[in-house]
Amino acid sequence: MIFPWHQNAFAKLTQMLEQNHLPHALLITGAEKIGKFELAMRFIQTLLCENSVCGECQHCRQLAKDNPRDVLDQSVLIRRSHYPNMVFCRPELSESGRESKEIRVNQIRAFCDILSKTADALQIGVIFYADQMNVNAANSLLKTLEEPRENTLIILLAHNANALPATILSRCQSVHISPTFDSESVEWLSKHIDSEKRSDFDAAQLLENAHGIPFKAVEELQGDYFLQFQSWQNHLLEMAMNPAKTIETKLFEGYELETLVCLQQLITEGVRLKLLKTQGALLELNKVVNKASLDNLFRLLDDISRSISLAQDPVNMTLLLDNVLIVWSHITHLKQYPIITNLREVS
Ligand SMILES: [Zn+2]
Repeated sequence: MIFPWHQNAFAKLTQMLEQNHLPHALLITGAEKIGKFELAMRFIQTLLCENSVCGECQHCRQLAKDNPRDVLDQSVLIRRSHYPNMVFCRPELSESGRESKEIRVNQIRAFCDILSKTADALQIGVIFYADQMNVNAANSLLKTLEEPRENTLIILLAHNANALPATILSRCQSVHISPTFDSESVEWLSKHIDSEKRSDFDAAQLLENAHGIPFKAVEELQGDYFLQFQSWQNHLLEMAMNPAKTIETKLFEGYELETLVCLQQLITEGVRLKLLKTQGALLELNKVVNKASLDNLFRLLDDISRSISLAQDPVNMTLLLDNVLIVWSHITHLKQYPIITNLREVS
């Protein structure tokens, strides 16, 4: 099946095929967890299967076994697919077993080497995190892209196309997968929420919280992160609804940065609703943004971003959060936006 939020990108790919424009190099971009690999594999299956993605032929079964995301015990330059003419490349493991931050030139050489072997069948190479190729690796790949061979397809997967050299970009056809908020994706998500959790969560709101990335929404729901996130969210809304109450911050201890991010998302969503003059799934948020002025909400967002960027330095996060929360708890009736001193002093 094609995921609802992949449909546009997939249509663009099949259009290339139908018009006989299968490129030598393809770049698939999109946010983390949007499903770039799934889209690539679906496309590869379309190319290889003789029965329009049957799931049963030799090629379909070989592809189904591939899981290049699996962490291996040892580091390898490249990984071979179960389909004999396909190879995957992704950052190696360091000695400590961690994934390296870059793809190195010896990996790209090994990758291109395999692809240059003569074969009658289609040769396919997939590079994960292509935007993490170091300069030498990118130059090495460029040589292969400059002299494309018949019957070879190289697919680059990357979060950020801008991180790739222009010389490589110009030799790729690119397809982007955008975040999604449409009803089909919401429906897909609601089907993928565990049935016992289904009544507790609103799929549209989950998708909003996951910035329009359905796989991320599913993942967040599996761990207790989302539950925690939701309790922070409820607590933050309660604060703004009851300005007279003393601020209780125990719940946020040790999670100051996460709380700031949570509040940032909440206000961003509130501003969006206010600008669209519409209501969201969170009743309390609707009430708060109704009463708060847009100007104050924007100012607070500014201060929150500043606080989040300061979190890189060893500053007192509790104090930063407290100051932000004081403003937030009075947001519905702020006459004049206060100056948060410790933010101004350091900036
Ligand atoms: Zn098949």
